[in-house]
Amino acid sequence: MDAADNPGLPLTWRDGYARLGPRFATPWQATPLPDLRWLSVNHRLAQDLGLPSDWWQRPGMLEVLGNGRPLPGATPVATVYSGHQFGVWAGQLGDGRALLLGESCPPAGNAMGPQEWQLKGAGRTPYSRMGDGRAVLRSSLREYLCSEAMHGLGIPTTRALSLVASPGVVYREEAETAAVVSRIAPSFLRFGHVEHFASRDMTDALQQLVDYIAEQKFLQLPATTPGRERALAILDAVVARTASLMAQWQAVGFCHGVMNTDNMSLLGLTLDYGPFQFMDGYDPGHICNHSDHQGRYAFQQQPQVALWNLYCLGQALMPLIDDVPATVAVLDSFTPRYEAAWQQRLCAKLGCTPSAQAQALGEDFLRLLARQQADHTVAWRNLSNAVRDWSGSLEDTHEFHTLGEMVGQDATWQDWLDRYLLVLIQDTDWKPSVQATNQTTSGVLAFHARGQAMRQVNPSVVFRNHLGEIAIRRAREGDTTEIETLLSLLSSPFDDHPDMTSYTAPAPAWAQSIAISCSS
Ligand code: AMP
Ligand code: MG
Repeated sequence: MDAADNPGLPLTWRDGYARLGPRFATPWQATPLPDLRWLSVNHRLAQDLGLPSDWWQRPGMLEVLGNGRPLPGATPVATVYSGHQFGVWAGQLGDGRALLLGESCPPAGNAMGPQEWQLKGAGRTPYSRMGDGRAVLRSSLREYLCSEAMHGLGIPTTRALSLVASPGVVYREEAETAAVVSRIAPSFLRFGHVEHFASRDMTDALQQLVDYIAEQKFLQLPATTPGRERALAILDAVVARTASLMAQWQAVGFCHGVMNTDNMSLLGLTLDYGPFQFMDGYDPGHICNHSDHQGRYAFQQQPQVALWNLYCLGQALMPLIDDVPATVAVLDSFTPRYEAAWQQRLCAKLGCTPSAQAQALGEDFLRLLARQQADHTVAWRNLSNAVRDWSGSLEDTHEFHTLGEMVGQDATWQDWLDRYLLVLIQDTDWKPSVQATNQTTSGVLAFHARGQAMRQVNPSVVFRNHLGEIAIRRAREGDTTEIETLLSLLSSPFDDHPDMTSYTAPAPAWAQSIAISCSS
């Protein structure tokens, strides 16, 4: 970058993963797109990064985040990885349309720590295979908004800083236009990065990768920790993070859609937003990816698939760990870790102290929803409001009626409700996992406090497919106001948003006709 064009941001740049060398990452340049324009910039993330408010208007920033102009001090690269896709070894994949610009070191006192900056859709790379290296507007807009929606929900995710559009044509099923998302994360490393070097018997590279992760990314293990222990410690950390992530996805009804090992983050982040969906009507067998004919990645399969993927990771780390029982023991800790995290999340959704009894109640509530595919988000939010507004009698608590209408006013529902109220009354140990109120915890007020805490875990708004679809249609017509509305709404998903009922309501009937596949 020319000095005259230096955006002068209060960040310093360096090679992040790229510094491991050419076996890991290939220096590469983006292929420029014509007539770039900002569609949206994420001021909240910019603030978290410690950027000044006019950061995006600084000289050259559009070229950096749209056309991958190199940052001072860092070399753009595409990284190599391999992976299992739909349960089958797919061999080498790699950043086919992602370009890693570099790693930012934050200003003093910034809480975020070093962050990798990556562009998605910046053109062909050595790993593009048959692809064009591009991303279309619709998928880029979905990734941009959904990563911020996940962050708003408190779920670990890569984040997106900007959405840039170009009139450049990209062919999918039909001609579309190109867009580039800039993504930010401490690391974009995937299970597939580890699998790549293991599959080629490049044990020294595998060790180098593990050392990099251990030293730079989350374990901060002393350099003297032997290789075997490092690899096992990393596997253990990835298992723990993935178990927690799965519980968080399941708790909000998030379906990823393509849980191939190359889309699984080593840091336990939600990564690679493709045909994902927040479920509307609750259906445990829901398949959001129209290319997933077998339902491998159906909603209820996600925790199991995560474990399958972790086995691939464990297998790939074997040359370093060299201890099958120790590896299997770590992998087997996934299920109890997931179960504990799920119980904790589900009970928080119900406003109950975690217990097997409360968990069963939560699972029965989900069964009630599944009978008529009642809206997942609305039902849990209504339950929270019903508990908050509990007057001491069912007749006078209007939200319980609304909920009954959603799930079917029958004996099963009545029975569930009686059990639930009894548990709430008897559960005197309850303490909010999220401090929502300082109300006293006895009698009706105890319900009020519980309801408030439930409202901090049961969102009023999630990034539903049809909301994305409307924003996409408007953006294609040149109107970006819907993107801004959603960005603001989804960053505070636990507020009520009383003037925005069309965003918090169940999806309209036409939403069911939206078909999203891997093609993006
Ligand atoms: P995905 O299914 O999006 O996770 O992508 C799987 C692999 O295909 C990754 O290596 C991607 O980089 C690559 N890929 C996906 N779309 C494209 C594209 N349009 N051009 C080049 N590579 C792509
Ligand atoms: Mg991917």
